[in-house]
This record gives sequence, structure tokens and C-alpha cells, in this order.
Amino acid sequence: MSNDPGLVNAGDVYDLIVVGAGLMGACTAWAAGRRGLRTAVIDQFEPGHAHGSSHGTSRIFRRVYPDPFYVELTAQAADSWQRLEADTGVALRRFTGAVDHGPDRDPHRLAELLADASVPHELLDAEDAGKRWPHMRFTTDALYHPDAGVLDADLAVVSALARATSDGVDVHTSTPVTAISPGRDYLVVRVAPNGAASGTTAHPDSGEPEIVGDAGESIPLRAKRVVLAAGPWNQAWLPRLLGTAAPRFTVTQQQVVHFPQREPADDWPAIVHQDLSRTDIAGEEGLGIFAMRAGRAARHAVKIGEHGHGAVTTADSRDGVVDPVSVERLVRYVDEFLPGLVPEPFLALSCLYTRTPSEDFVVDSAGPLIVCSPCSGHGAKFAAYIGELVASMITGDGSPPDRFTLSGHTSPLTR
Ligand SMILES: Cc1cc2nc3c(=O)[nH]c(=O)nc-3n(C[C@H](O)[C@H](O)[C@H](O)COP(=O)(O)OP(=O)(O)OC[C@H]3O[C@@H](n4cnc5c(N)ncnc54)[C@H](O)[C@@H]3O)c2cc1C
Repeated sequence: MSNDPGLVNAGDVYDLIVVGAGLMGACTAWAAGRRGLRTAVIDQFEPGHAHGSSHGTSRIFRRVYPDPFYVELTAQAADSWQRLEADTGVALRRFTGAVDHGPDRDPHRLAELLADASVPHELLDAEDAGKRWPHMRFTTDALYHPDAGVLDADLAVVSALARATSDGVDVHTSTPVTAISPGRDYLVVRVAPNGAASGTTAHPDSGEPEIVGDAGESIPLRAKRVVLAAGPWNQAWLPRLLGTAAPRFTVTQQQVVHFPQREPADDWPAIVHQDLSRTDIAGEEGLGIFAMRAGRAARHAVKIGEHGHGAVTTADSRDGVVDPVSVERLVRYVDEFLPGLVPEPFLALSCLYTRTPSEDFVVDSAGPLIVCSPCSGHGAKFAAYIGELVASMITGDGSPPDRFTLSGHTSPLTR
């Protein structure tokens, strides 16, 4: 991967420039390269950095959603992951199955939705679930489905970018994008070479302030379309680019914590457990836990997080400090519900969610700009699908689902 924008022929007009090489941008670059689109993907940091939302080696993928729209979308996502894995020759997913339980998860209703979509599944009562997974505790019936597991997010980003590069995509890392503005027949994307920007000046044509690199230069790249896949940084970009048509995003700092397994051989499916009445162990928001077998970073461990409870922040002002109160809540949870784990946390990480009020994604065009949202804390499992969707929007072969349109997300009151 190059971090030298000097390698780009500044006279070229790209079919698209992707801003951001997290899961969404990397998968978009892969899908665009596969379709022969002249593409550049640009990130301010190196792959695997911990400032955004895609770092680490584990994200849950699963078929269960309390909404038939997303159940159907998980089928398309599975097809897209298969294509990416076949194309890169890299296994990105590990199938462990998944269990949903708790009174507010409503396993019976979820089972109906899986049945409607012909997704294999099994309902167990609490006693049978406890016998099957003696290292977990259940207070309600549980829904198990095998077509679920753990996605290696870091590996997905690196593999998608490597494949994109071999398909001719220009990948530029440690290269901040400093401005996106209209040109005559294209968009101009300005990048500050050599990493951190060092100062502000006025653009010679527009007079607009722009950030310049160490050597005082900022390099203009031209593209017919620009895909804004800047994760939590989209929140700051979009009002500038779209004004009142910008979708409303809330960025929160979340944390995930690893706990060691007592028995390395235990079978740990991914877990979603919801019980809003358990304010005693989870605080006033109630219990909303997700857990999965940890990835390469922590063998024989389970990674656990709370879906809610994040502190509102921004991509640039977040402090990256893991909330000790959340860790305490997770220790209490492990103590009561996961006796197969040692309740001694290690390797805690912070990460950013960027949510819409409805938790639907935003993937839509605004003229030559395509907004590719960071997907409300549940987007990793759809990244390969979203990459293919965006590429198909550019070739004219596809359009986003109605639920992802910009107009549906401009006001918190619309959904
Ligand atoms: C704790 C946590 C747990 C999660 N668990 C799951 C899960 O189990 N299952 C699931 O499906 N999803 C999960 N998610 C959600 C999923 O990880 C996100 O939806 C996804 O990673 C978002 O990817 P992204 O590419 O949109 O954003 P990011 O990964 O943040 O990527 C955006 C990129 O844009 C770059 N960028 C921004 N501004 C500029 C600029 N000016 N110039 C150049 N580059 C720029 C950034 O450097 C960054 O690399 C989880 C998220 C978190 C935080």
C-alpha cells in the first residue's frame, strides 16, 4: 500500500474515490476494483488503526434480527462474504453458531422470522439450553442457529484492500482527505500528503480554507463519484457537504472486554442476551449483552460488550478511555450468567458506534456523492454486501433499499 499520493497521476479522473478504508471503504474498493472501475481509496491512518469502528479480529455475524428486512439482508451479506472469501482465498468467518435469549429478546418471535426466511434454527427451553452449554446460564427459552459466528474485521480490511490493489485500485494510507468540492465535470478531493496536516491556507481558486501538508502542498484528485465511507467522521463531513439534507448521526464511545475461558475446549456460540428488567446488574438501561469467541488477538477468551451505554462523543474528541463502570457491569454479568469464564477482565478496547435514530443504515447518492454510513453498531456483518451495493450503484446496476435513503434520516422524528 502506498502513502505517497505523488504516485497518482493528478490528471486522471477516477470513476470513484472512496474516502475511508475501514470495513465499508475497503469492501467498496474491493467491489469497485472487481467491476473494473478506476478507483482510489484513501485513509488518514494505516489499516488496523484503533481510532474508528473496524479494528480488532472479531465481530458477530448472524442471521437473527427482530426485523424481516434485516433477516433477508443477512442472506445477501452471506453471499457477498462468500464472494470476497473466494476472490481473496482467505477465510474471514469462523462459524460458531449463535444463541439469542432473555425476555426482551423474544426467542419465539425471532424463531418465526427465521422460519419465514428458511433459516435453520432450534428452540430450546432453559433447562435443555443449560445442559447443552453448561458454561452459560439461561432464564428463558433460547434460540440457536448455526449459520452465525465471528468475522475477522482486521483481516477483512487487509484482504479486501490487497485484492483491490491487485485489481488496479490505488490504495493510499496515512493520507488525510482535507476537502471535497465540485469541479467542472467531477469532484475534487484534496489530500494532505505525508500524514498529518501541518497548517491552513486559502485555496488559490475558491479561497476556501484548506489544510496543507508538511511541504505546504495539498494534492487535488479528480473523480466522477466520491464515496464517503468515513465512519464516525461522516458526522462532521456531511453537514458541510449536504447542509440540512445531512442525516443525523450520534457517535458514542463503546467498549468491549475479554474474559478468559475456564476450559479452552468449551463450545462458545455468539450470544445476544436482553433483559431490560435487570437494572441491578446492568444499570438503568437494563441488560443488552453481546458476546462472541475472541479472535486471533485473545485465544481461549470470550469478548463481551454492551449494545447501549455508550457516552456521546465525536470521532475527533473521543478520549479512548475504557469506562470502568461498564467493565464492572460486565464482570457482574459474567459472574451470574457465564460461569465458564473467569470473571477477571483483560484486554479492554474502546470503539465508536455511529447510529441513526432508527439504527437503519444510510447508503444513498446525493448527486455525485455517495454516503456510506458506518451502520449503527451492527454493520460489520453487512460490509461485503454494502461494498457490492455501492459499486452496483456506480455501475448503474443497483439501488439502495428505501430504508437506507438519505431522506429517511434527516430528522430523528421521521422513523
Ligand atoms: C465495539 C463495537 C462492536 C461491534 N460489534 C459488531 C458486531 O458484533 N457485528 C456487527 O455486524 N457490527 C459490529 N460493530 C459495527 C461495525 O464494526 C461497524 O459498523 C463498522 O466497523 C463500520 O465501519 P466503517 O468503515 O463505516 O467505519 P470505520 O471503521 O470507522 O472507517 C472509517 C475510516 O475513514 C477514515 N477517515 C475518516 N476521515 C478521513 C479523512 N478525512 N481522510 C481519510 N480517511 C478518513 C478513518 O481513518 C477510518 O479508517 C461493532 C462496532 C463497535 C464499535
